[in-house]
Amino acid sequence: MKLIFALVFISLCLSFLPSLIARGAYHSSLPSGFTDYSYANSSRRLLEYKQAQSSVVDITRGYMTNSDLERAMKAFVQKCSNISRIYSIGKSVYGFPLWVIEISDKPGVEEAEPAFKFIGNVHGDEPVGRELLMLLSNWICDNHMKNPLARLIVENVHLHILPSMNPDGFSLRRRGNANNIDLNRDFPDQFFPVNDDVGARQPETRAIMSWLRKIQFTASASLHGGALVANYPWDGTEDKRRNYYACPDDQTFRYMASVYSRSHRNMYLSKEFQGGITNGAAWYPIYGAMQDWNYIHGYCFELTLEISDNKWPNAKELPILWEYNKMSMLNLVASLVKAGVHGRIFSSDTGRPLPGSIIIKGINHTVKAGRVFADYHRPLVQGERYEVIASAPQYKSKTTHIWLGEEAMTVDFILDPEVTTEGNNLLRSVCDCTYGSKSRFAFVEFLWRDHLEVYFVLIVILTSLCFLLKRRLKSNLMKHRQSPKRSVMI
Ligand SMILES: [Zn+2]
Repeated sequence: MKLIFALVFISLCLSFLPSLIARGAYHSSLPSGFTDYSYANSSRRLLEYKQAQSSVVDITRGYMTNSDLERAMKAFVQKCSNISRIYSIGKSVYGFPLWVIEISDKPGVEEAEPAFKFIGNVHGDEPVGRELLMLLSNWICDNHMKNPLARLIVENVHLHILPSMNPDGFSLRRRGNANNIDLNRDFPDQFFPVNDDVGARQPETRAIMSWLRKIQFTASASLHGGALVANYPWDGTEDKRRNYYACPDDQTFRYMASVYSRSHRNMYLSKEFQGGITNGAAWYPIYGAMQDWNYIHGYCFELTLEISDNKWPNAKELPILWEYNKMSMLNLVASLVKAGVHGRIFSSDTGRPLPGSIIIKGINHTVKAGRVFADYHRPLVQGERYEVIASAPQYKSKTTHIWLGEEAMTVDFILDPEVTTEGNNLLRSVCDCTYGSKSRFAFVEFLWRDHLEVYFVLIVILTSLCFLLKRRLKSNLMKHRQSPKRSVMI
C-alpha cells in the first residue's frame, strides 16, 4: 500500500514539474507605466499544431479574402469615422489597392505627435498579421472612450495600419508577390548593391518607400509568422557571416523589442531566443530587408515581429493569437508617448518652427524634426543620462544634458541664427542695387540730420515688438507641451 502511495505521489510531482519550471523562469520586468499582461502558467507553444498536410481549402477557411479585408476596412472607417480614415499607398502587381487605416483623434491632420505604422502580410503565406491588425483597429475603436491605453494612443499618436502589404502573395498562397519576389529582400541594402535598380523594384516596395517620404514615422513593426520572437536591426552583416551585428541604436531596439516580448503572453518564455528577442543578423543575416532600410532612410525604428510559430494556423486560433498579442501591440505603440525624449525646435528670431534634427551624443543616428511643426520624437532607453543636440542649417546648435527617468521627457529647443559674413555681404549687395553711392550717402545724411526723432521712435517700436514676440513664443511653447512628460525649454 505504502509503495503504491509513494508511486502516485512521485508521478504527481513529475507531472507538475514542467509548469513549475515555466512559471519560475518567467518574470515580467516591463518598464513601469506599461500594462502587464503576464500569465504565470503559460507554455511557449500556443496549441499543439497538427502538422498534417492541409489542403488549400482547409487553410484559408475562416480567413478574410482580399475582398473581405477591403470590405472590413471600409466598414471599419464608417463605424469609426470620428477617429479614422482610409487611404491607399499604391497598388500591388495585380492592381489591388494597398489600403491603410489611420487611427487618431485628428486623422489626416498634421499634428506635433509621433506616428506609428503596423504592416501585416509582408509574406503572402503569413496571414495572421492581417487578421490581428483588423482586430486591433476594432478594439481601439470600441474602447477609446473607456480604456486609458486606447485613449492614450488615439489622443497622442497617429497610428497607420496596412493589414496587407502583399495581397497578391496571399491570394496565391505563397511567400513572394505576383512576380514571386520576396518583398522583405527587395529594399535597397546598406552593405551590398542589391535592389539598386529602381526600375526592377516591386510596386509594393515602391509604395512603402514613397509612403515614408510623405509621412514621418517614429517607429513601426511588420508582422510575420513561422516563429515567436521580436527581431531588431541589423538584419544583415558586412561580411555575410551570421553573428550579432549591432546598429547604433542597439540599446533602444532591445528595449523596444522587450516591450513587445514582455507584454506578450509567452514570447518572453522562448527557449530559442533569450527574452524572446533577437538581433536579425544573429538569427540569420538577410539583405534588402525592410527594417534596416526604415532605420537608415526613413528615420523610423522598425521591428520585425514573428507572432506565431505556425505560419497559417487554423482560423479558430485567431482569437487566441489576438489575446496573446493584444497588450504587446498596444504597449509598443504607447511606448512612443510613455518613453523617450520629445519636443520641438524653434527659431529665436522669428519664433517659427525649425525642421532641424536631433542627435544623441554617442549614438550615430539622426532623428529628423517634422516639416510643419518641427516636432521630434526620439525613442530611448529609460533610466539613463543623455546629451541631446539640436541643430538646423544656418542656426547655432544647442546641447543639453538630460536624465531620462521613468517617464518620457519634453525638451524644446530655441536656436539662434548664425550671423555669417556671407549674410552681411548679401545685405550689402541688396542695398547697393537699390541706391547709387551718392544717393545712399544723401539718404543717410537725411536720416541723421533732420529725422533723429523718427529714428528714436523706430527703435522704441522695434524693442517693444521684440519683447512681445518673445512672450508669444514662450506661451506657444507652453501650449504645445504634452501632458504625460517632464518639460524643459532650452
Ligand atoms: Zn515573413
